[in-house]
Amino acid sequence: MPSVPRASTSSGGDPGRLDELPTPALVVDKGALDRNLATMAGVWPGRRLRPHVKAHKTSGLARRQAELGHTGFTCATIREVEVMAAAGLGEDLLLANEVLDMRRLGAVVEAGARVTVAVDSDAVLQAAVAGGVREVLIDVNVGLPRCGCDPQDAGRLADAARAAGLEVRGVMGYEGHLMLVADPVERAEKTAGAMALLQKAHADVGGDILSGGGTGTWRTNAVVTELQAGSYALMDTAYAAQDDVPFEQSLTVLATVISVNASQGYAVADAGLKAFGMDHGNPTLPGHAVWYCSDEHTIFSPKDGAPLPALGDRVRFVPAHIDPTCALHERMWMVEGDDVVDCWPVDMRGW
Ligand code: PLP
Ligand code: MN
Repeated sequence: MPSVPRASTSSGGDPGRLDELPTPALVVDKGALDRNLATMAGVWPGRRLRPHVKAHKTSGLARRQAELGHTGFTCATIREVEVMAAAGLGEDLLLANEVLDMRRLGAVVEAGARVTVAVDSDAVLQAAVAGGVREVLIDVNVGLPRCGCDPQDAGRLADAARAAGLEVRGVMGYEGHLMLVADPVERAEKTAGAMALLQKAHADVGGDILSGGGTGTWRTNAVVTELQAGSYALMDTAYAAQDDVPFEQSLTVLATVISVNASQGYAVADAGLKAFGMDHGNPTLPGHAVWYCSDEHTIFSPKDGAPLPALGDRVRFVPAHIDPTCALHERMWMVEGDDVVDCWPVDMRGW
């Protein structure tokens, strides 16, 4: 096993094999990813989708999304905006988050990228002016207790933004509290209620854009002009359990079995909670029970009397929550079967 990962195969290098990767390693099934991207593009084509890059933090994957026509992106951090712009993907970047010091964003605008920021208070819109950002969306609270102004304050904020010389492109409102409502009919009704708040605010604000939604409401949000879905490409376990969310879990964490306890019937792999986002629970391993994760280990056993793995075997855990999982890794390997076909740095991680 090489101690250093092979260089990116984008440049035409030796593709390599899955069993040669150092572990733990983030591995993406290219076929499943391609199917996810195509399914989403079929329903939310081109600029109707503004993919959220926080899900994968990988400009190589964002480039694939752009090649499908999704050339506007959603970002959560200044660093995501900076890396996307530097990667030549800065045609229309929305920072869907509040920032109080926008000087780094002003520099990105100065360098030629288009940057729009969410604002939910006078202080944030003044930060946009001071930092050299010229375009904003009024961020409206549609029921998730997080950022966003009260819907009835949106018109006043838009007036204040225009008076300060900013271009107001419209509104955004993220219905994150509804993504995992199990019944699609109930989810659709509740989404419509949340989006009625956004529409009401939009009537006071004006502009062309109503931005919002995510993977969980990709079929139930009929209001937004652009959907901010991100997880659909790699997919969480909770989303995969929803009947109307057809995307496949294309992301796994490759690990090596480093110890086997035959008398007690368990095996130990070399990927632990530092390799998985754990807030949605343990990773899963098809055909196995995952007992627990510690810092650098995951303990698991076969189900239904199947044999224990052997020392040195490779296993591919399915992380429950992809965003924090990706953020823990430096690179993402693309595989087709046992062939490694590409390697993308997770270049938007960090702040
Ligand atoms: N928009 C915003 C502002 C978000 O914070 C998120 C995720 O948390 C999303 C959109 C969509 O994400 P997902 O596709 O993972 O549901
Ligand atoms: Mn998430």
